[in-house]
Amino acid sequence: MGDLIKKAAQDLIKSHYAIALTGAGISTESGIPDFRGPSGIWTKNPQAERKAYQSYQEFLADPKKWWEERLSGASLLGDLEKAKPNAGHFALVELERMGLLKCVITQNVDALHEKAGALNVIEYHGSVLKLRCVDCGSRFKQEEYNLEKLRAEGALPPRCPKCRGVIKTDGVAFGEPIPNDVAHRSVDETRKCDLMLICGTSAVVYPFANLPRLARQRKDGVPETIIIEVNADPTPLTEEKISDYLIRGKTGEILLRLVETIRRIREG
Ligand SMILES: [Zn+2]
Repeated sequence: MGDLIKKAAQDLIKSHYAIALTGAGISTESGIPDFRGPSGIWTKNPQAERKAYQSYQEFLADPKKWWEERLSGASLLGDLEKAKPNAGHFALVELERMGLLKCVITQNVDALHEKAGALNVIEYHGSVLKLRCVDCGSRFKQEEYNLEKLRAEGALPPRCPKCRGVIKTDGVAFGEPIPNDVAHRSVDETRKCDLMLICGTSAVVYPFANLPRLARQRKDGVPETIIIEVNADPTPLTEEKISDYLIRGKTGEILLRLVETIRRIREG
């Protein structure tokens, strides 16, 4: 593992435009359960999974009822808003400050990259801290809305101050399209990158899963993209040889060692 960390450190130093893709695996060390692992949210509660699949259709059919139900029930993910970033999130921030990492594209809705201090983050599946207008796509901080007050006044769903459109939570539901701005920025960053560091995701959920595949396919005269995986176990990306190599282990631990190794090399 040490050799691979050294190789990754050298590859990052040599890269011109490195980006990271992250998923549930980087947040499990912050105590956030994943969805499909052995103690995942869906694994333990298949009924909740069925309900989640219907949620977006229910929202479209009756946003007032959807909001009322949402405000009366407990969040499936528990106190996600109180979760704190871990060593893995901070290591990526450190790489960004060193000028080695240009962007993080995350599948996680927990906002932990932002909380850790990352500057250029694309929240592919939205954020628990935000709300989004389904008509014009504007995003707002949760605290800009007093949802309990709107409920008490029978004034749900919340409305967009810009276009009067209906406001939804920013988190992208099953069956809901990825918001345009996020989808486009992610593809742009992927086309630009010459190194992709994939952390804590097997990238099987589409369309996010297209990003590493797009990085691999690109042959437009730009040097080949190096794709590095940091995951607990081999994934389809490893098996399909989309990644060049896998550093196997705990995301936080490996990313921290990666930062330390880069420091040592640079201090030479
Ligand atoms: Zn709007």
